[in-house]
Amino acid sequence: MFQSALSATLDSSSTYSGPHRLLVVDDDLAVRMVSRYALEKSGFGVTDASDGFTALSWLKSHAFDAVLLDARMPGIDGFATCRQIRELLNDDFFPIIIATGQDDEDSVEAAFESGATDFATKPLNWRIITKRLNSLIGARAVKKHLNDRSHQISSMLKTSSEAMLVLDDNGVIQASHLLERLPSELSRNVTPGNRLIDCLQTDSALVVEQARAEALKGDSFDSFVVYSSQDGLAHTVQGRFIAGSENELICLLQDQSEAFVVEKQMFDLVHKDPSTGVANEKQLMSELRQRLRDDVETNTHSVLLRYSASDLRCFEPRIGRQGMARLARTIVERLGVGVENFLLTRDQISEPGNALIARLSDSDYIVVLSGLEGVGFADELADVLLRRVTAGIEIDGFTCSVEWAVGVADSIDSSATPDGILSATAYAIHSEVALASGRRIHRYTTELRERVYQDIEIERLLRRDIADGVLEMHYQPKFGLSGLGLIGMEALMRWTNSELGVVSPARFIPIAEKSGLIVSCSHIMVEKVLDQMLVWREEGRKQVPVSINISGIHLNTRTIVQELQAGIKQRNIPPHLLELEVTESIMIDGSGKAIKNLTDLRNMGVRVAIDDFGTGYSSLSYLRSLPIDCLKIDRSFVRSITTCSTAQAIAKAIITVGHDVNLHVIAEGVETHEQLECLTNLGCDSVQGYFTGRPVASAEFIRFFDSAG
Ligand code: C2E
Ligand code: CA
Ligand code: CA
Repeated sequence: MFQSALSATLDSSSTYSGPHRLLVVDDDLAVRMVSRYALEKSGFGVTDASDGFTALSWLKSHAFDAVLLDARMPGIDGFATCRQIRELLNDDFFPIIIATGQDDEDSVEAAFESGATDFATKPLNWRIITKRLNSLIGARAVKKHLNDRSHQISSMLKTSSEAMLVLDDNGVIQASHLLERLPSELSRNVTPGNRLIDCLQTDSALVVEQARAEALKGDSFDSFVVYSSQDGLAHTVQGRFIAGSENELICLLQDQSEAFVVEKQMFDLVHKDPSTGVANEKQLMSELRQRLRDDVETNTHSVLLRYSASDLRCFEPRIGRQGMARLARTIVERLGVGVENFLLTRDQISEPGNALIARLSDSDYIVVLSGLEGVGFADELADVLLRRVTAGIEIDGFTCSVEWAVGVADSIDSSATPDGILSATAYAIHSEVALASGRRIHRYTTELRERVYQDIEIERLLRRDIADGVLEMHYQPKFGLSGLGLIGMEALMRWTNSELGVVSPARFIPIAEKSGLIVSCSHIMVEKVLDQMLVWREEGRKQVPVSINISGIHLNTRTIVQELQAGIKQRNIPPHLLELEVTESIMIDGSGKAIKNLTDLRNMGVRVAIDDFGTGYSSLSYLRSLPIDCLKIDRSFVRSITTCSTAQAIAKAIITVGHDVNLHVIAEGVETHEQLECLTNLGCDSVQGYFTGRPVASAEFIRFFDSAG
């Protein structure tokens, strides 16, 4: 940020390229005429004025590059005029030359006192005056440039949370700034006169020295991370070098400790099941992805056992939420010990450490084993574990007897994707065959590939319905939390097929993405939404930004920028009324055109929001480098915001950091008054959710405009 702002200042130092504009002020008509003649010949554009008042009124209405001012004039004299010009222009660098009489020492003194830049004695030597004027005008441009630049740098330093060191070419600290922003153990040491690396622990010093060497080679900078410990707590400081003047380096350091802790909490919340500490669905999926890839390379199998309880929730009224959490921990523990014992007695199958246990929900538990020669033992293991978890579990004197169904899938039989193998176990449990059999353990079979065919059928029908114009848009209102009423809406796609009925976007969007149909869907959506905006505008409705969800696939196309630009131009829609909701993964994948396209669209004025924020990979500390305007706190945090202090802490961190970098923060999936109240207290800007309004067709949406007044 620092560098780009710096180069922006350098680039924007636009200088006026026409002739220099000069104002000559003298009560003597002859002097004015001679001046005009001589100076115009030297290339100046000359305006003249016969007294101070006229000069000031010229300066009020026109831009000049310099003033040549006679000292002695009737009415207000040159000195008073000079003072008033300074006041008017409020620019210390603006060149004013006062022309004084010969040997008039008092006038020279008075000239400088009144704020003149220079003086010249009459009769004026035009060659010298011309040179002097040119150099004063040039100097002003340079000074102004340096002044702007130093203002910018100092305001950047003020607003950034970075400490700054200036190092000479031996790495010795020459100057420091805002050290109080560093952990005190570090700030105590990094004082002028010390070598930076002598102030650091050995491994940090090595990293910094390497980055410094890189930075010294060119004017590029390299970022590095320094660890320090204080009061037994680890601190993380992120730093980078910027080439300064001569052989100096500027070192910017930022204490990232809090951000790292929040990120770690966020990681755990996103990747671990809070009640049991085992992997949650997200972590399971990413582990599976890796394991399945390894299987392909080593020609081995993975097996996935899914334990699904049909009636766990019925215990909650008896044992409460805390009891439910203990029940979950017991189930996880029984599964873990069961697998370990099983593998210890069959040590040719696999190492016990290879078993992965995950909890998908209150009633869904997963066991994964990978790198296997075969899965002939799977039914037996499934049975052993089933008996362990079926045995009654006592919580607070109440015995919970759980009814389980088990789905077993082998990576070879099911599709070799995490989603494929996981849903294979679900099909195994829920297939008509399984339901009819009355057995507890069900192996995924090829018949169950039926589902795959269902996907193909959905794709076929979707393709047809896109062509027939069956897709529709619904709109969900967004409300400001500081009494602003309706502040926007999100457009969501709706599909009702004549054979399948209503198909949820959660079902058909992934199929559309896999098949490439998403781009056609997106085109239809954009056209429909923009047309709808036009209709509402013509009806005189309140104009608020409308968000559309843009799939990464569409965002990566070559033409999306022109497409959206043409769409809004054609309808004369102000670009800021369109907002794109994109996921964090788009920001992370730097390979495609997505970021460039987003940046272009944003430069056009279109707003950009990160959807489902917090579930992906963005680290809070890098937010400021992304081309975005808004963060949308994911539903999962909002869902537990009133019951889980970590979810609340994370929502709070997102709001705080979002505000720090001037982003609008909205919470989605708000379903209760309590959640709304909590978000209001946390300072969230706006909300969207069933509590304030479900997505509805455009005709029905009118009531939200009406209630917004
Ligand atoms: P999303 O972008 O996160 O959209 C919000 C989803 O949450 C919508 O589901 C909305 O109906 C639902 N929702 C809103 N308020 C609440 C609430 O208070 N509680 C709960 N539980 N849910 C709420 P929907 O419409 O089924 O869309 C699902 C997903 O499908 C969207 O998630 C989005 O990723 C995708 N999608 C929908 N329309 C489009 C579209 O036009 N283009 C693209 N590319 N994707 C779309
Ligand atoms: Ca969305
Ligand atoms: Ca969302």
